[in-house]
Amino acid sequence: MITPAQTLTLLAAIILIAGVATFVWIALATVARIAPRASLAMAAANAAASASLTLHVLRGVLPDAFTYWPGDVLAITSFALLGAAVPGITTRELVWKPGAVVVAVAALLLLAQPYEGDLRWQARVVNGAGAGLTLAAGMLAWRALGRSATGRRTPAPLALPLFLIAALMAARGLETFTNPGRTPDLRVPTDFNLVFLWTALVLALLQNATLAFLVLMRLINRIERLLERDPLTDTLNRRAFDQALEQSHAWLKRGRGYALVMIDMDRFKQLNDTLGHAAGDAALRQMVLELQPCVREVDRFGRLGGEEFCVLLPDTDIAGAALVAERMRMLVDEAPLRWLEQDWHLSASFGIAEAERDDASGDLVLARADAALYRAKNQGRNVVQA
Ligand code: GH3
Ligand code: MG
Ligand code: MG
Repeated sequence: MITPAQTLTLLAAIILIAGVATFVWIALATVARIAPRASLAMAAANAAASASLTLHVLRGVLPDAFTYWPGDVLAITSFALLGAAVPGITTRELVWKPGAVVVAVAALLLLAQPYEGDLRWQARVVNGAGAGLTLAAGMLAWRALGRSATGRRTPAPLALPLFLIAALMAARGLETFTNPGRTPDLRVPTDFNLVFLWTALVLALLQNATLAFLVLMRLINRIERLLERDPLTDTLNRRAFDQALEQSHAWLKRGRGYALVMIDMDRFKQLNDTLGHAAGDAALRQMVLELQPCVREVDRFGRLGGEEFCVLLPDTDIAGAALVAERMRMLVDEAPLRWLEQDWHLSASFGIAEAERDDASGDLVLARADAALYRAKNQGRNVVQA
């Protein structure tokens, strides 16, 4: 036998979960400053859900004008905010306009029938809008997570709770056709309401947990990037490049070779002294951008220090490296640095080396590339040497 106390307890539990989640998201946004806008949208979504359910429980206690229509509009707003937060977390852009339109249209539709009798019309509007908004958010998240633009794997099934919420809301809307009049009020102790409330409780927890997890993944990705990138050129810093070199060298014993292309800009001190340090920095950034098209997904591009760079080419022999280096040399040679209406000719020298079976460490290969680079400089610069 289901009692009203059971449905009321479940309602209180969901209100509490959404209330606590509101404060956790506010803390994430303001104190930890992680994905602040998306986190604030999640806080607002939880606050709206909590307020909406509270008004639902207070139907008949407070004046009807405060509880029925405002509560329903808050419920739809909560789904719209969730729909705005999800792309904010997965793709970094809050998408709030479609949700705002849905809320406005649904708020008017709710008034198309009076708040009297069984309220099935209102239940269909609220649950239809909720299902549509969450389904759209789920599909957006599924696609964004599958692409995994951030580098680290973020499995698409993390979007699953959104689909389950959409299904739950759709079920509630459809139920008004088969069981007229009793279920639109969540406090009524029916089997359907009990199952609905339990599922809603689990999904509220699951949804908040998965989104919080995604937000943390974003933070981890950002920290990892800061740790391994050179801030000026966004290439790998010395430490990250050494690590990549060590890894490739370990693969050498299993039959997978690699080659190194070492790059040093020519007469860079002269550029700095004539045009200033800012021009030198601009030249470094320009060169890195120019060379990007020659760097494959599997290659590692690092800044060893100053105006010295190195590209690690896996599964490449000395002939392949020579081809890449020659293309790079031409690219740098062709595009001057434009600085204060004036062109400054840029060039770089290249030293290449291939890893040999009996090289004890990657540093030895690096030393050979460095020696080749030294010869390139002695040959008059703007050349490739092996
Ligand atoms: P070479 O053709 O023989 O390579 O001549 P070079 O002038 O490039 O010689 P060298 O490699 O010794 O000079 C490196 C200069 O790069 C020294 C320093 O002033 C400058 N430099 C190092 N790091 C930076 C940086 O981050 N920004 C700028 N603008 N200049 C830098
Ligand atoms: Mg130099
Ligand atoms: Mg140098």
